Amino acid sequence: MLKDTYIKLRDILARAGIESPGLEARLLIESATGMSRAAQIACADKELDCEQALLELAEKRAKRYPLQYILGSWSFMGIELKVGEGVLIPRDDTEVLVDLCLGYLKDVESPKVVDLCAGSGAIGIALNRLANASVTAVELSDRAYYFLLQNIINTDITPIKGDVTECYNSFEEEYFDLIVSNPPYIKTDELKTLQPEVGFEPETALDGGADGLVFYREITRLWTPLLKRGGAMAFELGEGQAEPVAAMLERHGYSDIKTALDLGGTKRAIIAVKPR
Ligand code: GLN
Repeated sequence: MLKDTYIKLRDILARAGIESPGLEARLLIESATGMSRAAQIACADKELDCEQALLELAEKRAKRYPLQYILGSWSFMGIELKVGEGVLIPRDDTEVLVDLCLGYLKDVESPKVVDLCAGSGAIGIALNRLANASVTAVELSDRAYYFLLQNIINTDITPIKGDVTECYNSFEEEYFDLIVSNPPYIKTDELKTLQPEVGFEPETALDGGADGLVFYREITRLWTPLLKRGGAMAFELGEGQAEPVAAMLERHGYSDIKTALDLGGTKRAIIAVKPR
């Protein structure tokens, strides 16, 4: 019966130290049966024919394989995005960056936006939907690009498969109103200290070089000419990066620099305006 399967799954997850074993057990049942969490209560005594498959998924999760990859999709700002091995899982923290961008774009008519290191497309898709922006999304990795393409079906987002340090020259100068990126920003020697789940995520989406700041420098240097005067550059930030990134943006002539905090109190996003 469903309720017995639930208890088995929950116990496997709890024994492995998963933080919310009951919730995750129900999300696994939901993905395997299509039964919402509410429906599961009503069907507690129903026989499930997929218990074996569910137990295998729970064992996989017990080895810290990310829940989001098992489910195959994850919600970002109310938008359901396909995810799987090879693409960074969209995080709640990134909503802070999207909010900063939305605040900036509310006064811009028909904004042109580029999302660099787009991954699943989370940021670009949110800005396309919520700010009616015309968005270009740039992603280098084959596997991430595959998810990006699936996620932008039924949008007018333009995907570009390429390296952000190379493809900048395919645009006119002063073309974009906003350049936004959640680049890889973890210091190379801190990669091994992250939660075990992160070990299953692509290193190319995480590794920001020796000081974690390589992509901020490269993007600012190479993409600033493509930004309109009065346009904005916005980044997600790792811990302790607000000051060096703000200083670097100032050196490139940016002003009106604003940062925003995530729920944990870390300065998680920054936006700065290119002078007119
Ligand atoms: N948010 C990710 C983490 O802390 C990092 C993502 C990134 O490097 N942009 O694990």
